[in-house]
Amino acid sequence: MPFIIAIDGPAASGKGTIARALASHFGFHHLDTGLLYRATGAKGGDPIAAARGLTPDDLARAGLRSAAAGQAASRVAAIPEVRAALVEFQHRFAAQEPGAVLDGRDIGTVICPDAQVKLYVVASDEVRARRRAAELGAEATVMLVELRERDRRDSERATAPLRPADDAVVLDTSNLTIEEAIRRAVAAVERVRGGL
Ligand code: C5P
Repeated sequence: MPFIIAIDGPAASGKGTIARALASHFGFHHLDTGLLYRATGAKGGDPIAAARGLTPDDLARAGLRSAAAGQAASRVAAIPEVRAALVEFQHRFAAQEPGAVLDGRDIGTVICPDAQVKLYVVASDEVRARRRAAELGAEATVMLVELRERDRRDSERATAPLRPADDAVVLDTSNLTIEEAIRRAVAAVERVRGGL
């Protein structure tokens, strides 16, 4: 049975960096599920048709990391039919041996509720805004408004809202270096693997 690590949390909390590091450390596959929603939003037209017809080329499109693409993603992500269209791909990805790390908003709650390890990665709004500003070369004050708006939309939507699974380990990266955050995430996984 493949080992599944589910990582959720708000934008710029550090979950993507941690997910990539865990995948590389344990030799697992990694899926950034936000990219599926970003690609769906960027396609334009009917979002449900866009989600149903997503291709590898759509996922490789330039500009998907921008703040505008993030906003478009969170709007289409609130549509239940869009989410439903992306479930099967995520399930197939998670079923790969020897294991998979998926990061997003609803991995531990909806997509992989039986994941062996669930992490919920958070950081203060100000720290997240500074990180995103440095990444995109933008103003931290502008990023703060953008992140809060997106988090609110993601948390308040009716289908698969952003929230920690009951059995998730919460990791606050506000005052941690990247190395320390990764070390704690690896330790959380090792605790479970040691007990199997
Ligand atoms: O993680 P990222 O910032 O790339 O996600 C972009 C948007 O996609 C999020 O704000 C959220 O609305 C949506 N998303 C989601 N469920 C996921 C991953 C992302 O709703 N599993």
